[in-house]
Amino acid sequence: MTIQLDPGIASETELAAIGNTALVEVTGLDLPASVGRSRVLLKLESDNPGGSIKDRTALNMVREAELSGDLQPGATIVESTSGNTGVGLALIGALTGHPVVIITGQDTSTEKIEALRRHRARVVFADWEAAADSPENPRAVAARIAEGIPGSWRPQQFDNAANPSAHYFGTGPEIWRQTQRAITHFVAAVGTGGTVTGTGRFLKEHSQGRVKVIAADPEGSVYSGGEPGRVLVDGVGNTWPRSLWPTSFDPTVVDEYLSIGNDESYTTLHFLRNRHGLLLGPSSGLALAAARRVAAEAPDGSVVVAIAPDTGSNYLSKAFNPQWLEQQQIRVAGKLPVLDVGS
Ligand code: PMP
Repeated sequence: MTIQLDPGIASETELAAIGNTALVEVTGLDLPASVGRSRVLLKLESDNPGGSIKDRTALNMVREAELSGDLQPGATIVESTSGNTGVGLALIGALTGHPVVIITGQDTSTEKIEALRRHRARVVFADWEAAADSPENPRAVAARIAEGIPGSWRPQQFDNAANPSAHYFGTGPEIWRQTQRAITHFVAAVGTGGTVTGTGRFLKEHSQGRVKVIAADPEGSVYSGGEPGRVLVDGVGNTWPRSLWPTSFDPTVVDEYLSIGNDESYTTLHFLRNRHGLLLGPSSGLALAAARRVAAEAPDGSVVVAIAPDTGSNYLSKAFNPQWLEQQQIRVAGKLPVLDVGS
């Protein structure tokens, strides 16, 4: 049985605040005049108490494991994660009496590391670039640490069905309700694929296949079919061969992939802050840039919903730091790029 993310389940604690995030319309996108009546909406997952969509995933994985008996009361949770899932697990662990150990990479933002420690998680650094079969690979490090802690449990979000189901039972129904079933396109960036798989599947099933699902892919990621390179959008994209893609991602849900360059993602991210006062993470810029392109090509009257996975307050030292942007050779323009319809 899957627990729905209903606020009633934990009314005494911050767990109650997970899910039921706002859906806001984004205007001023300079869409071609012909698409004047299409709308672009952004689901603000930054509203979750841990600051990201991963609170939903962490909560659902912990609840499922408690129900199945895989996670016993007081047992330790051990997970390798680039940050947001760790913050979600640390928050939920602290509230439900489970110690949490997070294995993360050296380039995880200092703000996310601080958030992990604030929720009393133990943080261990591993080599994020290490090959899948290397003992220094974060998952190998997590396995070793878990072996040394009797009764510990590893959520393994990349291969855990409770990851996409958090979105099938939470994010998807919320969007369906909030748009009053009018959504025509759903856009999400892909990390573990849990968001796009669970939300996309729900929306397709409930619209008899009408809703199109678009995966926004950063420069350097192979999901959209390109060569592996350096990915400069935190938490998303993949550089591994298809045989190693996460099982939490079901590619059959995706109708189309859009590869978005770093300049466009970060320009869109800064647009959101400057024009709308929304301080969000880089994958939100990526998803909105893709949604903008989708809206420019979609039939008049389309309703395009994109996911904004996390808050920008975790990236002040990176995405909103001019020096970091310059080091990464990312150019943030003052205006959104002009979209060529039909190109
Ligand atoms: N954006 C950010 C910042 C993330 O941390 C993640 C999760 N890794 C995602 C997007 C993608 O979510 P999912 O894992 O559900 O594909």
